[in-house]
Amino acid sequence: MDCLFCKIIAGDIPSAKVYEDDDMYAFRDINPEAPCHVLVVPKKHIASADEIGADNSAIVAKIYEKIPEIARLGGVKNGYRVVTNCGPDAGQTVFHLHFHILGGAVLGKMA
Ligand code: 5GP
Ligand code: ZN
Repeated sequence: MDCLFCKIIAGDIPSAKVYEDDDMYAFRDINPEAPCHVLVVPKKHIASADEIGADNSAIVAKIYEKIPEIARLGGVKNGYRVVTNCGPDAGQTVFHLHFHILGGAVLGKMA
């Protein structure tokens, strides 16, 4: 499958790892929009939040359970924002489910 984040998970494309376990991989965004900008992805390919259902929601729960630890490993201190862009109107550019963790500064209002 020609998926950028599957290639990053496999190590075929280098990335700055923040956290990894059997289920997920977290790495620094190549084009950070905040001092701390980490992406968390399930190792299993899921195209977007639109594909979350009863058969794969357990991995989403596991990711959310780990987000506080990943955020701290990424360097946030006074809070953070978790975002997932889904589909064209949200500007999703990589079609492998990912959660942006943004922090390290006071963030502006969301669109
Ligand atoms: P989206 O726009 O789909 O919500 O988020 C995709 C994110 O992936 C963007 O913030 C973009 O900067 C990041 N990104 C795209 N290509 C790469 C890459 O090769 N390496 C890393 N670390 N991040 C990438
Ligand atoms: Zn993928």
